[in-house]
Amino acid sequence: MVYEAIIIGSGFGGAGVAHELTKAGIKTLMLERGTWANRDDDDWNPEKIILQSRYWGPEPLYVKQNHASGFKPIPVNEVVGGASVFYGGASMRFREKDFANWPLSYSALEPYYSLAEKILDTHGHAGADPFEPPRSSAFPYPAIPYNPPAARIFQAAAKLGFRPFPVPLSLNHTNKEKPICLQCNTCDDYPCKIEAKGDAASRIILQLNSKFFTLNTETQVTRLIEQDGRIIGVEYFDRKTKEINVVKAKLFILSAGALWSPGILKYSFPDRADAAFDFVGKYLMRHCNGIQSAVFPFQTNPTQIFHKQIAITHFYEDLRQELNTSVGVIQDIYTPSRNVVKAFVPTGLKTVAGCFANYIQSLLCIAEDEPQAANGIRLSTEPGAFGFPRLEVFHSYSANDYQRRDYLLTKAQRILRKAGGLITRSTSLDSFSHAVGTVRFGNAPAQGALDPFCRLYGTQNLFVLDASFMPTSSGVNPSLTILANSLRVGHYLRQQGREYWAI
Ligand SMILES: Cc1cc2nc3c(=O)[nH]c(=O)nc-3n(C[C@H](O)[C@H](O)[C@H](O)COP(=O)(O)OP(=O)(O)OC[C@H]3O[C@@H](n4cnc5c(N)ncnc54)[C@H](O)[C@@H]3O)c2cc1C
Repeated sequence: MVYEAIIIGSGFGGAGVAHELTKAGIKTLMLERGTWANRDDDDWNPEKIILQSRYWGPEPLYVKQNHASGFKPIPVNEVVGGASVFYGGASMRFREKDFANWPLSYSALEPYYSLAEKILDTHGHAGADPFEPPRSSAFPYPAIPYNPPAARIFQAAAKLGFRPFPVPLSLNHTNKEKPICLQCNTCDDYPCKIEAKGDAASRIILQLNSKFFTLNTETQVTRLIEQDGRIIGVEYFDRKTKEINVVKAKLFILSAGALWSPGILKYSFPDRADAAFDFVGKYLMRHCNGIQSAVFPFQTNPTQIFHKQIAITHFYEDLRQELNTSVGVIQDIYTPSRNVVKAFVPTGLKTVAGCFANYIQSLLCIAEDEPQAANGIRLSTEPGAFGFPRLEVFHSYSANDYQRRDYLLTKAQRILRKAGGLITRSTSLDSFSHAVGTVRFGNAPAQGALDPFCRLYGTQNLFVLDASFMPTSSGVNPSLTILANSLRVGHYLRQQGREYWAI
């Protein structure tokens, strides 16, 4: 088979552009290192998914964070659909002010937000979010009523005057042509066994026209092969045959996520030292997240029903003047199962934590974090798996990042107390699940590695479409924006026609 376009990575970034290219009849090959999620009972088993590494790939990230002395290996799930398979489905649009330092306006992205919501069957209430940006269309479906734990938070936040609203969710409760959500408590962190969650695998990749689309799994891309300012092929390690192969095409899309896309770029262009390329692998952001929990004098969710239903953006603009960014958002979050809670607390507290698990309710605080040149990725001198060096990630928060997070944690504490919580406790979240920004776009090579349509400056036929492109992280969840941007550029590529990239 001769392919016109090759996409590396099958997350929201890769899937969005595949959606557009295949619609135009462009023969597209997608290369993904992971395999399909099994979608069986074990996908809803907390021990199997959270504690026993069911989908962990062979190559961890090596992470040094918050000025730690050494690198710590952090395992990574590898499946078709990328992180979206494990995401919580919260599908929020960035706000107009979040685009202040972007080479793209909210209004230019707006039609693709609408398309993304349609593809994902997003459920929400237009007009309920006090800082919601203008919309050209209603949500595809209305939000479902709050379940009791969410209603408890809603009432408490409303009594405090904080204007809570239903978090837009890409979980299907209404479209009868697709599986209907059972409202179980194994959503955020878990693949959806019945495919009711709007992830990139079930809502996009499985729907693509097979006449124009091929997916190769267990295919680990190592390098882009460049000749005279153009990419001519991709080198990959086939995990099944253990062979290294090369595949060629005319158009190349790098969508390996905000940590691996810059790694693949650095490995492929070891000699590039121009201004635009200097941005590659820098300015990593991941939100400064924390969880505020409270112990209640009653079981907070005795039926173990889904309740990640509330968002509070009330404080979004409170620190804009002082810190030049948003603050962020508070969202409802589920309490992990008793065994998972026990696994994550220190040894002496395991029994007590197990006893209290059913009496805990928590709120997730997602704070905007600042782009800092010193935060990013680099290739280790240590060899990793498959002929590619280990990927090292280094990140430390600024004082301003903590200020935003703590601002939200304090508000979340007030809400939980108002809801009846007695003892409260906050914990920080050190995950890279919201990693963005390592191959930022800009109006000129002095401002970013990518042009406003996410083409790598200096390379005619290479586009980077995933979370990497963002120059700032905003204060809400990233995936709807990743998908919308990928649909935007995919639409642009098919409009421009083959002569734009195939010459
Ligand atoms: C537990 C969890 C909950 C989340 N909840 C939410 C939420 O509710 N709302 C929200 O907006 N966001 C949420 N997120 C974040 C969101 O899922 C990610 O921001 C988004 O999915 C990233 O998309 P991406 O396309 O940039 O990258 P990814 O999804 O990481 O896709 C990159 C793909 O490239 C593949 N790849 C990498 N390297 C190679 C290589 N060398 N060769 C071949 N393939 C490669 C990877 O295996 C992966 O499939 C959550 C994330 C997690 C982990």
